[in-house]
Amino acid sequence: MTEPDPQFYVSGILEKNRRILARTITLIESALPAHQKMAREILNRLLPYTGKAIRIGITGIPGVGKSTFIETFGMHLLAKGYRVAVLAVDPSSSLSGGSVLADKTRMEKLSLQENAFIRPSPSGGTLGGVTRKTRETLLVCEAAGFDVLIVETVGVGQSEIAVASMVDFFLLLMLPGAGDEIQGIKKGILELADGIAINKADGDNVERAQKAKSDYESALGILCPPSPTWKPPVLTCSAMEMNGIDDILETILDHRRKLTASGELEAKRKKQALNWMWSLVEEGLKERFFRNASVEKLLPKIERDVEKGAITPTVAANRLLSLTHAPEQPDL
Ligand code: GDP
Repeated sequence: MTEPDPQFYVSGILEKNRRILARTITLIESALPAHQKMAREILNRLLPYTGKAIRIGITGIPGVGKSTFIETFGMHLLAKGYRVAVLAVDPSSSLSGGSVLADKTRMEKLSLQENAFIRPSPSGGTLGGVTRKTRETLLVCEAAGFDVLIVETVGVGQSEIAVASMVDFFLLLMLPGAGDEIQGIKKGILELADGIAINKADGDNVERAQKAKSDYESALGILCPPSPTWKPPVLTCSAMEMNGIDDILETILDHRRKLTASGELEAKRKKQALNWMWSLVEEGLKERFFRNASVEKLLPKIERDVEKGAITPTVAANRLLSLTHAPEQPDL
């Protein structure tokens, strides 16, 4: 079967055809050079149609209620007339061969909705690989007319940083009963948050959720706010009882209004695009370096020489770098 041309995919996506959208994402996730070339061409043509959606990142430790929250929040968004796409970044999915995030039984109600689209994490090996695919998928979903994009990640590892670098609003879900948890959060995650929601604020937990709220408010108080116009708020919600969900949406919309008015949202996205470009350049350079036949041949000896102290690390690095010739012109 001959592969359709890029315009077939582009038109299908702009017509909101879900089957063609899914096929395009499969091309993005494919390791075949021909598929990647096709995906690049499709993305380039779709670029003018991207950028309009609200991009939300969601993280939190396993068990905090991410999928329950996304189901409730997603249904709320649909009721308000938004079209919602949910993507995930979970680099562990390629190791475990089936991740928490890829579990298809999650978000059962949302996944059946006409105006919702759920795509599990690509099982792409490195975090860099998974991140690239999710970013590209995000753009394609925007072109397919989804107004809200939710990118979920588990609260372990480096993936939060990757997700924070592709969204407008990064929401951290936490459990009631703070204090101890504040110690437990990985350093740096609070700094990434544009807002915190204490989930499971229901039943016996209500009081503890209030206590957690004030604890996190003071924890955030000692941090530098991420923007001059935005101080990350701490909210409480119950994904299960569907309480506090609209407040969270209103907070995200308020953030969007304020940062749009101040020009910060545009600046943030420009910076994210440049950072993305540079991380791809770095990744590409590294890949070319390690694929180079001379490097492959000489690396073990040069490493041994450095270990023995026969040559300095500087000389070794220079020698290795001089082995790589200017690469041929890549396909654009
Ligand atoms: P995830 O691992 O972060 O995706 O968490 P899940 O959404 O799978 O939820 C973990 C457990 O917490 C499940 O048993 C949920 O039913 C429960 N849960 C999720 N949200 C709430 C909530 O708002 N209140 C209560 N009481 N339980 C919740």
